[in-house]
Formats: sequence, structure tokens, C-alpha cells
Amino acid sequence: MALIIRIDVDRTYGRYPAWRHLLSRLSSDLYFPRVEAFGYLRELKTILSMMNARNARAYIFFRRCTLPSEAVLKLIAQGRHEIGLHLENSRSFDNFVTETKILEKHTGRPVLAVSKHGSGGAKYGLHHYAPYEPDKYIDWARQSRMKLFLGNLEDPSISPSVDETGFHAYPSAFWLEPAWRDTKTFTIDWLLVQAKSSDIVLLIHPENVLADPALLEEFKRLLVSLDTRILE
Ligand SMILES: [Zn+2]
Repeated sequence: MALIIRIDVDRTYGRYPAWRHLLSRLSSDLYFPRVEAFGYLRELKTILSMMNARNARAYIFFRRCTLPSEAVLKLIAQGRHEIGLHLENSRSFDNFVTETKILEKHTGRPVLAVSKHGSGGAKYGLHHYAPYEPDKYIDWARQSRMKLFLGNLEDPSISPSVDETGFHAYPSAFWLEPAWRDTKTFTIDWLLVQAKSSDIVLLIHPENVLADPALLEEFKRLLVSLDTRILE
């Protein structure tokens, strides 16, 4: 039993300094090209290098505005990570298929996992459709012959489901960032114990983890203490 690490790639240029934050917003709300010199997906690259050094594997979910660069694809290949769709436009099955195809065409590989950008409420970006409707995504993912849905609920003790075709749905995650976690109940020590006897999804956003030294230490502690898992 192990951690199933989920990395949501929300921001092209991270949060700091202010001009990079603005470029991230511009990429999301309108358009901005992928420029390595400005640190395109720099935070993701840092996290992936850290994970690769420890033979830890992850599912990495990309939005249509945060598609992986060549350098990121190389790190993904080296670490044998899995690519997933971070769904933005969830208005219809057609939109789901469109976003999946954008990612498959860009990466040249099949996309077998999906997560949803945003948990309902605010609209984040040009293509974003805000409602959170997990049953629809599970249905669409099955129709598309995907294998995995990772949901946004915040109670990591909720059990996953598996159907007869081997499709896995994890309704919730252990969000490393404390803003989305009941930090009294679901402590790092809780996770260290639970992930020994069951598979638990650990969700991180690279720019948040790297911005907070305490979170980064917790992430490193989890990586050295627990196995990570990709569903084969
Ligand atoms: Zn997101």
C-alpha cells in the first residue's frame, strides 16, 4: 500500500515574483506562450527532479494552458510518471474529448487519468466551467477508456471504487496544502500510518509546496517514508 501522488499543474509561471504571477494569470485567462527563460513550469520541474532522485512516481495533471514543455516531458519519461488531464471545460462530453485530444496530441501518448480543475464555485480561467460534477467525469472517462479518476473531496478516509473493467475512482485526496484539509484530523502522521495499510491520494500543487518551507519538508518526509504507486 502506498501514496498515489497527484500533481495538479495549475500555473504556467508559478506565483512569484509578481510578474510571473501575472504571466500565469494571462496564460489562464487569455493566452501567453511557453517561454523557458521566464521559468515555464519551473516549480513542476523542481518537484519532478526531487521525486526522480527518490524513485517516486506521480500522476501529473495538465490543463490546456499548462501543457508540458520538452524539458518537462523528459523528466516525466525519466521518472516513469503518468500524464493526466486536468479538466477545465466540463460543460459536455464533447468538451471533455476535445481537451483529452489536445493533451494526447501534444504529448504523443494516451491519457488514461483525469482530475477536475476547481471544486465548484469560482471560475478559474478562459476555458473553465466551474461546477464540480464528479459522476459526469467518471462516466466520460469510462466512455473514453480511461483508467482513473481522482476527485477533489477533502476527506482522505473515503474509500475508492473499482468497477469490473478495472476503472478506479478516488473521490477524495489528502491535500498537502492545509487550506483544503482538516489539519487536526488528517495530520502528516495520520497519513504515514494510513498509507501503510491502504492507498491514499496525496494532492499537491508545486508552486504552493515550494513557496512554504514547512510544506516542502513534509513532502520530503512523505517521499522518504512511503512508497508511491501508479496503478498498472
Ligand atoms: Zn486546478
